[in-house]
Amino acid sequence: MTQNNDLCPKCGAPLSEITETPTGRRLQRCTKGSWNPQTHKTEGCDYVKWLEIEPQQLDEKCPKCGAPLVLQVTRFGKKMKKCSAGSWDKETKKVIGCDYVEWINGTTENLDEKCPKCGENLVLFTTTNGKKMKKCSTSGWDREAKKATGCDYILWLKADQVSSDNGEEYLPPEEF
Ligand SMILES: [Zn+2]
Ligand SMILES: [Zn+2]
Ligand SMILES: [Zn+2]
Repeated sequence: MTQNNDLCPKCGAPLSEITETPTGRRLQRCTKGSWNPQTHKTEGCDYVKWLEIEPQQLDEKCPKCGAPLVLQVTRFGKKMKKCSAGSWDKETKKVIGCDYVEWINGTTENLDEKCPKCGENLVLFTTTNGKKMKKCSTSGWDREAKKATGCDYILWLKADQVSSDNGEEYLPPEEF
């Protein structure tokens, strides 16, 4: 962990260590402020510094031009693979270079729980917009027949069952 000497622009106190939100975004809070999970409010100084998420280089090549792909996380926690030979021109609002982008649709995590329908393992599926469900690991999608295969057990988790206590949803919007 690298030591940071950043000071809070609001009150001058040092900033805390970098913490990561459940969606993979990184931020630093003012050490004079702390999140109270009971009141869902920040106590003390409410300054939050959002850190840029650096694209991660992947061991994959762009199918269009052969340049390496990078994994990028948007500010809403969506993930995509994009071509490192492309970049976004803010002025013309156009992609310069290669425009290959592949959105990654959600993530699955193995759970230590059994499906109540068939007894196979359950997985935790997180959609691209952060909704979570438990589903059976035998389930799948038949692209050709366009129908679900395997066991159809699904349990959507309510927001309050999955929300973490760091109050990410109550944080002020990112500043640019
Ligand atoms: Zn502060
Ligand atoms: Zn490319
Ligand atoms: Zn099942």
